[in-house]
Amino acid sequence: MTSMTAARLATSTGLFEIQNVAIPEPTASEVRLRVAYAGICLTDIHFIRGELAAGMPDAVTLGHEVVGTVDRVGDAVTDWQIGDRALVHPVEESRTSTRVLGVHYDGGWAQYVVAPDQSLVAIGPEISMKTAAIIPDAVSTPWAAITETAQVQPTQSVAVWGIGGLGFHAIKLLRIIGAAPIIAIDPVEAARDRAVAAGADFALDPRHEDFAAEIHRLTDGAGLDVALDFFGSPAIHQQAFDALGRKGRLVLVGVSDTTFSVVSAPNLVRNAKKVLGHYGSERRHVEEIVKLARLGRLDLSESISAVYDLADVHRAVENFIAKVDNPIRILLKA
Ligand SMILES: [Zn+2]
Repeated sequence: MTSMTAARLATSTGLFEIQNVAIPEPTASEVRLRVAYAGICLTDIHFIRGELAAGMPDAVTLGHEVVGTVDRVGDAVTDWQIGDRALVHPVEESRTSTRVLGVHYDGGWAQYVVAPDQSLVAIGPEISMKTAAIIPDAVSTPWAAITETAQVQPTQSVAVWGIGGLGFHAIKLLRIIGAAPIIAIDPVEAARDRAVAAGADFALDPRHEDFAAEIHRLTDGAGLDVALDFFGSPAIHQQAFDALGRKGRLVLVGVSDTTFSVVSAPNLVRNAKKVLGHYGSERRHVEEIVKLARLGRLDLSESISAVYDLADVHRAVENFIAKVDNPIRILLKA
């Protein structure tokens, strides 16, 4: 067999379709995985809709949440053997550039994927392939935002805007870190209920007319220590910034093409607030999540809402966009 199916996006025309392409061969330092599952992320939807291009090539196979079994290794690869189960850490960073799987090079919405050997992370026998698939972004990105960018400390108050794939896991991870209270903010009642079941102490509708007073009350008048935005709209930025207390940090995680503006310089300066951008995660964050999941400290069993065959990618994407059954993560099965 020399060809495989892959869900590819032509960035110049916007055409997104299943194609028959050659099975990629790994170079000396690369490893090829037989893909088991790949996650669908909101970022993929932005790409398909032409809302984000982010330096993509003319045509690329999408998919940056990928797990599979090692199927072939390059001549110089010594750490991996055929049959090993691994996920791919999707972000390679150097001082001058960032290269992302499924964005800048072919990703995992395909039967096979090739990645640098340094990008692979072993998942061990305790974690299911389905669960492992979503670790590289839906879990590791909020983990990195919480532990590194926001530097959340135990008993600090944290609110999470947007209880989708990343925000839902943020609630669970904040619980592990010991944030308190944890406040989930989402306009959808089912999402708020899900957040409370996952460990949020309180849940609020962002359209609540007394929203600011509610935050004031839930934080004993202090305002938030940390606001995590997984939503990415100007109205949310404003609301989250205003909800911060003294030395509060607003972290923008959701990728969008909106303009960010904070209106009040005195509010920023006098209250020593910080506004921080966050993107993806480092390899060690992925390894930390794998460790927590292997030890049973992080339950991801409810995180997979549906699984579709790769051939059914269009239906999977439509249902993800339409939020059919309010999904946390939808997987493609290669
Ligand atoms: Zn993503």
